[in-house]
Amino acid sequence: MPRLAFLGAAQTVTGSQYLIEAGGRSLLVDSGMFQGEKQLRLRNWAEPEFSPAKVDAIVLTHTHLDHIGRVPRLVKQGFRGPVYCTPPTKDLAEILLLDAAHLQKEDAGYLNRKGLTKHSPALPLFDEEDVREAMELIRTVPLGRPQEVNHTFSFTYRDAGHLLGAASAHVTVREEGRETRVLFSGDVGRFDAVLTKDPDLAPDTDYLVVESTYGNRTHPELSVLDQLEGVLRKTFARGGVLLIPAFAVGRSQQMVYLMDQLVTEGRVRAFPIHIDSPMAIDATRIYASYPESSKAGLGNIGGRSLLHGRWIHLHRTRAESEVLNKMKGPAVIISSSGMLSGGRILHHCRVRLPHPENTLLITGYQAAGTLGRALLDGVTSVRIHKGDVPVLAEIRDLKGLSGHADGGEMMRWLSGVGSAPRAVFVTHGEVEAAEALAARISRERGFPARVPALGEAFDLSPGEAAGPGPEVL
Ligand SMILES: [Zn+2]
Repeated sequence: MPRLAFLGAAQTVTGSQYLIEAGGRSLLVDSGMFQGEKQLRLRNWAEPEFSPAKVDAIVLTHTHLDHIGRVPRLVKQGFRGPVYCTPPTKDLAEILLLDAAHLQKEDAGYLNRKGLTKHSPALPLFDEEDVREAMELIRTVPLGRPQEVNHTFSFTYRDAGHLLGAASAHVTVREEGRETRVLFSGDVGRFDAVLTKDPDLAPDTDYLVVESTYGNRTHPELSVLDQLEGVLRKTFARGGVLLIPAFAVGRSQQMVYLMDQLVTEGRVRAFPIHIDSPMAIDATRIYASYPESSKAGLGNIGGRSLLHGRWIHLHRTRAESEVLNKMKGPAVIISSSGMLSGGRILHHCRVRLPHPENTLLITGYQAAGTLGRALLDGVTSVRIHKGDVPVLAEIRDLKGLSGHADGGEMMRWLSGVGSAPRAVFVTHGEVEAAEALAARISRERGFPARVPALGEAFDLSPGEAAGPGPEVL
C-alpha cells in the first residue's frame, strides 16, 4: 500500500517536504528549508528520516526556499536522482539558491569571528558548489505535460498562480496494478492577482494535500492600484522619495508592473524608478523571458521593454547604489530585503527615514521581530548599522498583494473537485489556520479533512485498477 509521510510544513508554514513510498520506490515532493524560530531552523540540520541515496526523484512545486532549500543538502548527503521542476522554477532556483549559499557563508563567518557558536567552526548548510551539483540534476517539465518518473510514479504540473513557474503536482502512484492519485497543491495563489495568472482549479483526485497559509483569513478587497496611486501622489507632492522594500523575486516585478500601469493609464506622470538589487534585476529578466507564464509579459508592456524603459534605472554595484543617496524626489527606489532584515534597503532607510517628505511603503507580510514590523507598529526611532535613525518619513502599508489564496479562495480552488477524495491533508499553515481550513472543507464540501502532525505518515488505500502500464525506458 502506498504510504505518504509529512516531513515538513505540517502545522507550520515552512520546510515543505512530503515522501511517498510504494513498491520499494520513493519520491519526494518539495524539500524546503525550515525558517523562522530557532527550534524550527535547527531541523534543517537533522539527519533525514530516509536515506537520500535511495530516493528515486524529487518533484518541486516552486522556487521559494521553504520548498527547495534542502535540495543541495540532500545532494550532499547522497541523493542522485532527477529533480523535476518547471522551466521558470529552474532559472529562479539558481539565483535564489546561490544567494542563500552566499548568505549562509556570511552568517557562518560572522558566528566564527564573534565566537558565537558551539560548533567550531560553524558551517553553512550548503555552499555554492553544492548548489551547482544540485542544479545539474534538474530536469524541466512544462505545465500540463504528464511526466513518467519510473514504473511506480508519474506526475503532471498544473498552474498554481502563486509565483512565476509555481505549480501544483498531481502525482499518480502505480502499485500492484492499481493507481492512486495524490494532488499536492503547492502554494496556491490568488484569483485576479497582479501579474500572476489565476490558479488552475483542483481536479478530481484520490487524495489531496492542501496548503493553508491564510486558511483562516479573508484578504481585504482594496484596489492595489488606487492605494499605490494615492501614496505616489502624496509623496511626490512633497517632493519626496518613495522607498519600497520588496522581495527580489515576485514582489519587485509586481511593483514595477503596477507603476507602469499607472503611468500608461495617465493616472500619474512618469517618474524615475530605481531597482537597487542585482537579484531583482536578474529575476526581472527571467520574468521577461517567460511572457506566456504571466498575465502580461514584462518584456513588452505597452510596446516597449519594461526593463529598458526610459524611466527604469538598474543598479547592480554598490557604487551605483550609493549614488542614490543624493537623489531628490520625485522618484521610487525598490530594494530588498522585503522585511528590512538586511540588504541594501537598510542604507536607504538610514538616508530616507529622517525626512518627512519621504514615504516607506511596506508591500508584504512582516514577521514579528523584524524592522519592517517595528516600523508598521509606529516606532519613532530605529537602530540601523549601530546608529539611531529617527523615523519622520511616512510609513504606509500596501494591502492586497499576498501571494497566497485566503480561505474563500482555497474553497474556490477546491470547487474543481467533483467527487469526494478519500482524504484531504491540510498542511503549510500554523495550527489555527490549518484547523480552520480543514473544518471548513469538512463543513462546506463534506470531504474528510485532517491536519497531519510533523513526521506523521498514512497508508493510502489504492484506487482504480490501472490500465496497461506505461512504457518506461
Ligand atoms: Zn511559496
